[in-house]
Amino acid sequence: MTRATLLCTVRDCRLPLTREERRLVCPNGHSFDVARRGYVNLLQPQDRRSRRPGDSAEVFAARRRVLAGVEARLVSDLVDLLAAAPGGAVLDVGCGEGHHLALIAERFGGEAHGIDISVAAIDAAARGHRGLEWIVANADRFVPYADASFSVVASITGRMNPGEFRRVVREDGILLVAVPAHDDLVELRESILGEGVLRDRVERTLANFAPQFTLERHERIRHVARLDAAAIADVMTSAYRALRARERARLTAIGEMEVTQSRDVLIFRPRAVH
Ligand SMILES: [Zn+2]
Repeated sequence: MTRATLLCTVRDCRLPLTREERRLVCPNGHSFDVARRGYVNLLQPQDRRSRRPGDSAEVFAARRRVLAGVEARLVSDLVDLLAAAPGGAVLDVGCGEGHHLALIAERFGGEAHGIDISVAAIDAAARGHRGLEWIVANADRFVPYADASFSVVASITGRMNPGEFRRVVREDGILLVAVPAHDDLVELRESILGEGVLRDRVERTLANFAPQFTLERHERIRHVARLDAAAIADVMTSAYRALRARERARLTAIGEMEVTQSRDVLIFRPRAVH
């Protein structure tokens, strides 16, 4: 099996990287070390950004519990939508700690690659899921893979770079984009943040991808579950990161609540390149 080829991220180099013992090297002599846990950090100085609250250990832990717990059905339903995808390599852009990608690989097999800009997230992904390929990179700038490398590109409440997604997906491949639906966490937003439904993101997402992709299918995945106080705290922490003191007080006052979890999932096919 041939592996998807990584490309050099140094400025405009973009030449193929070859794997040596503990590093990747391009023909121009740029090299990247393979970390002890097996992932590769391809970030360039211009890609680095300040630490966000989202990178804190507390948020990571909350998100991990949410994905494996109250969101498990949502995640499972989402992965089911890839059943019709052609076989081949899968790329998850903005993969975080790799929860979705690991499940995709477990269910469908095949080569699996995850990209995230957070070193901490990729380090955790590599620790938790061996045998998959993990890359630290800024996918907003450049998705560091050769053209037509993937049968599936996924962006699950993650980053969106239509031009680059089109370049790395195969002609017969699919693009899966999942965004929070307008009623996601609506009960919690009303009682804690004092706001109602979210703006619908489907229209904007479709417009964003229209030049390179055609929509094949739109599914809304929705589950309503009774959550206890601990689960509600985790959900809010992972979705909103920093709450104001007044909001935190309202959160603490909530006992149990019925909570809607909802995603709009868009399955796209690439447009032919002329
Ligand atoms: Zn290079």
